[in-house]
Amino acid sequence: MTATAPADLLIRAAAVHTLVPGEPPRRAVAVTGGRITALSVAPDGLDALIGPATEVVDAPGSTVLPAFDDTHTHLILAGHSVHGVPVHRARDLAGFLGLIRERAAATPAGEWIRTTVNWQEVLLAEQRMPTTAELDAATAEHPVLVRRGAYNMVLNSAALRLAGITESTEAPPGGVIERDEHGRLTGRLINRAVEPVERVLPRPTLAERIEGLRAASADYAACGIGTVRDCLVPVEDLDVLDAARAEGALAVRVRALVSGFAARTPEQVDALLDRMDDWRAAGRDDDRLRLWGVKFGIDGGFEAAAVEEPYQGQPCYHGRLLWEPAELLAAVDRVVERGWRVGVHAWGDRGLRVLLDVFEQALKRRPGLPPGTLVVEHGGLARPGQRARAIALGIPVTVQHPLLHDGALTQQRAWGEERTAALFPLREWLDEGALITGGSDFPVGPYGAMVSVWGMTTRGTTAGVVGPEHAIGRAEAVALHTVNAARLTGESALRGSLRPGTFADLTLWPVDPLDCPVDALRELRPILTVVDGRTVHRM
Ligand SMILES: [Zn+2]
Repeated sequence: MTATAPADLLIRAAAVHTLVPGEPPRRAVAVTGGRITALSVAPDGLDALIGPATEVVDAPGSTVLPAFDDTHTHLILAGHSVHGVPVHRARDLAGFLGLIRERAAATPAGEWIRTTVNWQEVLLAEQRMPTTAELDAATAEHPVLVRRGAYNMVLNSAALRLAGITESTEAPPGGVIERDEHGRLTGRLINRAVEPVERVLPRPTLAERIEGLRAASADYAACGIGTVRDCLVPVEDLDVLDAARAEGALAVRVRALVSGFAARTPEQVDALLDRMDDWRAAGRDDDRLRLWGVKFGIDGGFEAAAVEEPYQGQPCYHGRLLWEPAELLAAVDRVVERGWRVGVHAWGDRGLRVLLDVFEQALKRRPGLPPGTLVVEHGGLARPGQRARAIALGIPVTVQHPLLHDGALTQQRAWGEERTAALFPLREWLDEGALITGGSDFPVGPYGAMVSVWGMTTRGTTAGVVGPEHAIGRAEAVALHTVNAARLTGESALRGSLRPGTFADLTLWPVDPLDCPVDALRELRPILTVVDGRTVHRM
């Protein structure tokens, strides 16, 4: 293919993997106006497109791939977390507390100190969270909030005081205020018990939110990701994303799923959809930021997923279903009736079975629904019969190796080794003909283009290699984040592969990720990430 206008960017590389089926690697790619305009098998084949303003990247040892799509992640949470004390880097509690002490030394007394949320206590040498006493020893001058994910916290005494939590405070229903064997507060708050803390935390300004999204989206881009599908956007945060886009602060494209976790009744679902309809009617979607649909969850995560066989050592515990099937069906039907898509979290095999029942009935009610309207998020413990049903119903599934990577130890304790090894049967999904796409579920797992490819091809986890028979090939793993990801969002004509006319969303790698030593993938970072023709990361 040739184009005639001078290119904005021209890259010469050892290989340009276009991911167009059957197409051998190219050696040069040209970009103009945010789109791929030409590709060439000869490294100098596009030199006629070099004009006075063309940026030429000569990288004869490097490899070009489409930018990756993290199809299930949490950019909003990353934006809140990115300026926190980076405790995810600590390997033990001494290191963890040292980082807090260091931040305290540089923070005026009385100001809140908060951690990043993307870490797991089982990965610390002591395999536990810090205690209030340990945090008090790190600083008594600041309220300290240690947070892991959204619903797990430990506070120091100053923070407990500000939140009004005392020895006699009772936990709200569905919440846990942990106490030691003497009945004293440990500082640990779980699930709804975190709400009093949320109420006293200083609310970030809009400018701080935008700066958080700017830094977090740049971090995604720095590891090869050009699009994120954020699976839990509070509906009011659409305005924050909009403002970030207006300021050019979104380094990556965003496909947003609005959180339906607080919408239980038909009226609440309608109220959510009214706000989404307003967004659509005002024409606020563009190629950078698009509202994808609604997110629900049918069961819990590592310690509360709904499973057919009981939890290990708890013969009466089968995890939790969060919805009555009939109510979830009503909610899903409402969403699709109004022209939106639905992604539903299902982690355990019982959760997935019940969800597929719901989806089957939803499709029976509305047989004309376009494929990809109903999506399973995770489908962690998908059993053979369930895979067959999902495939027959044409339901895509987003899978996230980083969850298995970081969660393997926790999951082995809850379910035992056999069920943990059965998580994410990617080989089977692909062989049986499913549409699956790759993601991270950050902050539960780490994000990154090649750490995900490494994980899906090796099945490496913090508990060693688990379920290696479910591994897939490298090209397949890349496709899960590119070609398949674009199919999931209905954007195959625009992204996922490199062809004249597609978005100029691409990555340049110092080695060929398709055939370098596999363990090199784990830490591999791109030299360049380009989104919409603009360089958003340069090593
Ligand atoms: Zn998630």
